[in-house]
Amino acid sequence: MIPSLRPLRLNTVELLREPGSERRVAIAIPATDLDVPTEHLDRDTVEVDLVARSTIDGITVTGRVAVAWRDECRRCLRPVTASTTVEVDEVYQRDATDPDVPTLGADALDLVPVVRDAALLALDHVPPLCRDDCPGWCPTCGADLAEGPCGCDAAPRDERWAALDALRVQEPHVHEPRVED
Ligand SMILES: [Zn+2]
Ligand SMILES: [Zn+2]
Repeated sequence: MIPSLRPLRLNTVELLREPGSERRVAIAIPATDLDVPTEHLDRDTVEVDLVARSTIDGITVTGRVAVAWRDECRRCLRPVTASTTVEVDEVYQRDATDPDVPTLGADALDLVPVVRDAALLALDHVPPLCRDDCPGWCPTCGADLAEGPCGCDAAPRDERWAALDALRVQEPHVHEPRVED
């Protein structure tokens, strides 16, 4: 159980007083405060930029949660750093009429669960590629093919990579991360 973090705890009494009221939460939260694994983090914080907006019967929360991460290319093991942004679009009802929609607490809305889920999704980037066409290592002689051809017969390589990738990669529901050099 993660303790509630003050910046991510919204006073819903104020917000619900008038439909259309907004409250923006733009802050960097230490990843450890969110109980997010830090192994692949490139920055110690999770960037949060959310807007809570009151409606007739509840509150919507929309915006972005971004995590900068680093990992190794799954083909050549070169380091890869990137930032993945996850879009947030949540609805909270004042009185539950839809069992799938979370209900608001008495006077506060805790954004920790939605921010944490988004951060975990951003980190669920699978072993990345340093670039889409990374040639990896020669499976026969072990040469780094980014440095040039090694002379082995590499004809069926691409199909082998495709089969391997299909086994290893489960696309998360996030945008393809940008890979920085
Ligand atoms: Zn690579
Ligand atoms: Zn080779």
